[in-house]
Amino acid sequence: MDWSDACRKAADAIGKAGALVVTSGAGMGVDSGLPDFRGERGFWKAYPMYERLGISFVGAANPAHFHRDPAFGWGFYGHRTTLYRTTEPHDGFRILRQWITRFGLAHFVVTSNVDGQFQKAGFEEERMLEVHGSIHHLQCLSPCSDAIWPNREEIPVDHATMRAKQIPRCPHCGGVARPNILMFGDYSWLSDRTRGQEMRFDSFLNEHQHAPIVVIEMGAGTSIPTIRYMSERIGQRNAATVIRINPRESHIAGGHTSLPCGALEGLEGIDEFL
Ligand SMILES: [Zn+2]
Repeated sequence: MDWSDACRKAADAIGKAGALVVTSGAGMGVDSGLPDFRGERGFWKAYPMYERLGISFVGAANPAHFHRDPAFGWGFYGHRTTLYRTTEPHDGFRILRQWITRFGLAHFVVTSNVDGQFQKAGFEEERMLEVHGSIHHLQCLSPCSDAIWPNREEIPVDHATMRAKQIPRCPHCGGVARPNILMFGDYSWLSDRTRGQEMRFDSFLNEHQHAPIVVIEMGAGTSIPTIRYMSERIGQRNAATVIRINPRESHIAGGHTSLPCGALEGLEGIDEFL
């Protein structure tokens, strides 16, 4: 398929933009080699142990495990903590930063990913909205207070059993700590850190209310559509262009731009016209 018209249109919008909002979902990490949890097959391919136990992604990403069996709960998150720390963000992150510098773009990143890959690629913490929280921050499981603190723990995991050999503890009460991530069926997630990010993002949108704004959305699926709605909502402004990059679900209405490919391929394609 020839996407050159779409890439040229996207490049034109970026070249004329005053502000850039980068939105991303799970598909953003695929080009860095991160597993795609899409569907049970995708999840079980990455974690065969859970297939043997008959546990889906929704079943694994559940705070109940931390209450019942913390070593098992931390098996999934301890493995991912190490995985995300050791993963090198793909070249698409560098391309985005290069556009920001070259065109002097005011910018903000909104992601449903908890992997911290944007910060690892050099994006500033103050310009991030992590709507589901971050694996690199911890909170008390109870919780005994509103404290959220950086995850500096080493959490080795036995891959045969997916059990953590060490369990992070709350420094205040000595109980079990958990990732500051919004899980499924989660009523004790502490949202203060994310709320602070939301307030900074709202200020950013207000400040650039009249600027030509471009939203680049990558790898955001329809199963949990938070990110897609966010992109579309900003896209309703005057002088707003949304560029939706998605290999399977790239459709977008309202005269916006759609690229049916992976994040890295899409960004490289646009970059050729800049
Ligand atoms: Zn505590």
